[in-house]
Amino acid sequence: MRARNPNEAEYRDLYSGLIRLHILYHASKEPVFGLEMIEELGRHGYKLSPGTMYPLLHGMEKKGWLRSYKHGDRHDRRVYRATVEGRKALRIAKKRVRELFSELFENVLQAALAKRSRRIRA
Ligand SMILES: [Zn+2]
Repeated sequence: MRARNPNEAEYRDLYSGLIRLHILYHASKEPVFGLEMIEELGRHGYKLSPGTMYPLLHGMEKKGWLRSYKHGDRHDRRVYRATVEGRKALRIAKKRVRELFSELFENVLQAALAKRSRRIRA
């Protein structure tokens, strides 16, 4: 879903965990840097400024979920990777997300299952 909400800031409290999980997920796949994450999250409908993103990354590094190092010809870019702790946190969070997902979309899942069993019976 790519819904863009003009009042994004109002929902920041609700989304902050989702944003962190996005970052953790991508940083577990490959090294990521701040601007790239701003673009990636923008594609998902989250508008973040560098003034929000960088403190977020620093905070996650302080928690031990990410580790950063300088990168590039002039060592001018800071890239982030998920640590072992970060990957563990992501694994646990995924279970919670799955639970939440099935609760939020219970009716949708049930409708899909019912449709399938109708097809099988027919
Ligand atoms: Zn993403």
